[in-house]
Amino acid sequence: MDNKLGNPQKTIEIIQKYQFAFQKRFGQNFLIDPHVLDKIIRAAEVTKEDCVLEIGPGIGTMTQYLAEAAGRVVAVEIDSNLIPILNETLKDYQNVTIINDDILKVDIPRLAQEYNGGRPVKVVANLPYYITTPIIMGLFEGEVPLDSITVMVQKEVADRMKVGPGSKDYGALSLAVQYYAQPYLVANVPPNCFIPRPGVGSAVIRLTRHKEPPVQADDPKLMFRLIRASFNQRRKTLQNGLSNSPELSFTKEQIAAGIESLGLSPSVRGEALSLEQFAALSNYFTRNNLQLQMERGG
Ligand code: SAM
Repeated sequence: MDNKLGNPQKTIEIIQKYQFAFQKRFGQNFLIDPHVLDKIIRAAEVTKEDCVLEIGPGIGTMTQYLAEAAGRVVAVEIDSNLIPILNETLKDYQNVTIINDDILKVDIPRLAQEYNGGRPVKVVANLPYYITTPIIMGLFEGEVPLDSITVMVQKEVADRMKVGPGSKDYGALSLAVQYYAQPYLVANVPPNCFIPRPGVGSAVIRLTRHKEPPVQADDPKLMFRLIRASFNQRRKTLQNGLSNSPELSFTKEQIAAGIESLGLSPSVRGEALSLEQFAALSNYFTRNNLQLQMERGG
């Protein structure tokens, strides 16, 4: 197709034609490598049965690939300067809807309802790196019917999503991602695959949503409060991290008993605990009715 993007010349041509000025604050680094684009589409396993949500279509490079593979593509772009460009680069595709909005403000479950009858959507995107975590957490924690998320992120963030205890990259994001999904690293992508080149390495990661969570937490919200409290004060012991958290109000004795119930040392740090152990700790509190007591103001 004449308008097909994905190579540097075509991208430069479009950018010059519209005198488009890249906005750093929107994390604008456009993909210019057809091999990487192919890899992303293949890893996402997009078929004509699928409705894909693309976050940040830019000038429409990946959107064209998605439109060819998917039944429907809904693309949400914050930068209104890109809308006239998208109207040109996507004019040959009848199955694409462009929405000019901030993805963090969009009601995504409503989009899934409107464009896919409430069935699970696939999210595929070269994400704006400055809001990777809120986007991923919003997708998992909101009521979004979701099949999988296949996204380009900063390499270091992809690593964080995959690791377990014992790694310096292990943190609240690792635990949240692994509670909701199975992470799979698709490819590492160097800066020269983008215009302009980002100052960091990138990676494509696929997160396939679990049908059932891998651990049984009676109260997942409490488990995530424990996780946040542990990693907000990474250098402190788990005991102190939980005692100091404004989100929790267990007594020191209750916390010590909870840690002991897992057979852990009183001086253990939160970063040493696995997802299973965080679930067990939160279940200790719920099963001893301690959370209930706290929520009543006890
Ligand atoms: N998909 C294009 C590509 O691969 O070439 C562009 C990817 S670029 C890394 C990120 C895109 O997200 C930009 O087009 C940027 O304007 C857009 N963006 C940034 N913040 C956004 C937000 N809050 N909501 C929606 N889009 C956003």
